[in-house]
Amino acid sequence: MENKGSKHFNGNTPGLYIHVPFCLSKCPYCDFYSTTSISLIPNWLEGVIEELKIYKDRFSTFDTLYMGGGTPSLLNPNQLSTLMDFLFRNFEFSPDTEITIEANPDDITQDKLKYYRDIGINRISLGVQSFDDRALQYLKRRHTSRQTEKILGWIRAAGFGNLGIDLMYGFEGQTESAWVRTMKRALDFRPEHLSCYQMTYSPETPFGKMLTQGRITQMGEEEERTFFLLTSRFLEEHGYIHYEISNFARDEKHVSHHNLKYWRHVPYLGIGPGAHSFNEGRRWWNIKSVFDYCRMLSKGYPPVEESETLSKEQSDLEMLYLGLRTVDGVDPGLVDKQHQSKKIIGELAESGLVKVHAGRVIPTRTGFLVADSLPLLFLN
Ligand code: SF4
Repeated sequence: MENKGSKHFNGNTPGLYIHVPFCLSKCPYCDFYSTTSISLIPNWLEGVIEELKIYKDRFSTFDTLYMGGGTPSLLNPNQLSTLMDFLFRNFEFSPDTEITIEANPDDITQDKLKYYRDIGINRISLGVQSFDDRALQYLKRRHTSRQTEKILGWIRAAGFGNLGIDLMYGFEGQTESAWVRTMKRALDFRPEHLSCYQMTYSPETPFGKMLTQGRITQMGEEEERTFFLLTSRFLEEHGYIHYEISNFARDEKHVSHHNLKYWRHVPYLGIGPGAHSFNEGRRWWNIKSVFDYCRMLSKGYPPVEESETLSKEQSDLEMLYLGLRTVDGVDPGLVDKQHQSKKIIGELAESGLVKVHAGRVIPTRTGFLVADSLPLLFLN
């Protein structure tokens, strides 16, 4: 996608991700790494500072900072100050850096919001999931819809002009009308960004296990497809750009500039247990356990679990997979050079899965639906 919001973000400046792997309770569908042992936060913070020191001379300037989790809003002002002070003293940040914090409605206070503004956080991503209290109970979320509405009001009152709302759909018992009601309620707050995640059942999560045991059921493929298309149509009709499979922006300026880096192969540094990094064709990722992460850093070792260096062919292939998840699309040269697939592009365009626009092959809404298999069709 051509980003008209800020030329600056089109560049190759790296992004910084800090993983805050703590939650007050675990949601049964979630497969992100986090622990409920929040007493470990001070140790984690010491570890994060030590890990940042390793990269002081390898990364200089960032133009996005994303604090994700887990639940970064669990950090108290002192902990957040320690982290931000260290970052601002030791790394350069562009003047218009997008600084995001992920937050849950049950741990946000007006004081915290004021504090976030004071220290320069300019984007909040709120884990709302639903405005339907029965759905929230099913998903074992700790908040109610009324609480969320109050927090959204506070976020706007605190002056945040870049608000992202995370929603979830496609789970047992959810009707189309209930889902539309949730989207409508979210739109009442005019969020600049919406992430709508379709329910997935990773085998190691409680929901994944319950599904295997037959204690819950999964929507059928056709129903999932209907929900996906409904979501895309509904939000586009309300003026949002469906710019990535699960992501919608009110305008081009408010896409998630940090997440774009992942999809565009722009370098990023991930700090914290389980965080992934990418730079100069090399990818590496940290060990997940907070305890082991801290132990390795206290002994002076980088907490890296594994790394891989991408060959040119692997890198092109990844670009193909990533590009076909967004309205960025891919350069036909990338596809053609590898697979002589001009004919295939024509066939995919004819079947409505892609369109060719401004010299790019771009997935359509139906193309997004089959995003995982779309690259394979090219490779064929
Ligand atoms: S969904 Fe969010 S709050 Fe729930 S366990 Fe996962 S990271 Fe924690």
